[in-house]
Amino acid sequence: MPTELLLARPVAGSVGERERVAHLIPMPQEPGSPAYLRACCGARFGPGELELLDQIAGMPCEECLVKAPGAESPGLDQLGAGILARLAAIESRLESFSAQLASVLELVAGPDRKADHEDNRDG
Ligand SMILES: [Zn+2]
Repeated sequence: MPTELLLARPVAGSVGERERVAHLIPMPQEPGSPAYLRACCGARFGPGELELLDQIAGMPCEECLVKAPGAESPGLDQLGAGILARLAAIESRLESFSAQLASVLELVAGPDRKADHEDNRDG
């Protein structure tokens, strides 16, 4: 069974703004409320030190992304989907650009090539 991951960042004021990155936190497996939560990167958070996020907000914790078990978390899926969507958009722009380029090249090279071809046939 994949580990469920929570996405959370330190509450405002508990750390510097630069350290308020979105950590990935494995859902505690033991029953009852744990004394603290440990993020994938090893950072420990006590009660009231974290705010839960339902999507990536601000900077993600790079170490958490690297150390997260698998990519089953909705947060990571969303991040991956966003990156893939951007890549697909770039790819389709490149495709239409290269199609345009091909038709321009055909237009430029067309008559010459035809003439060459006819010359060769005649000669
Ligand atoms: Zn982290």
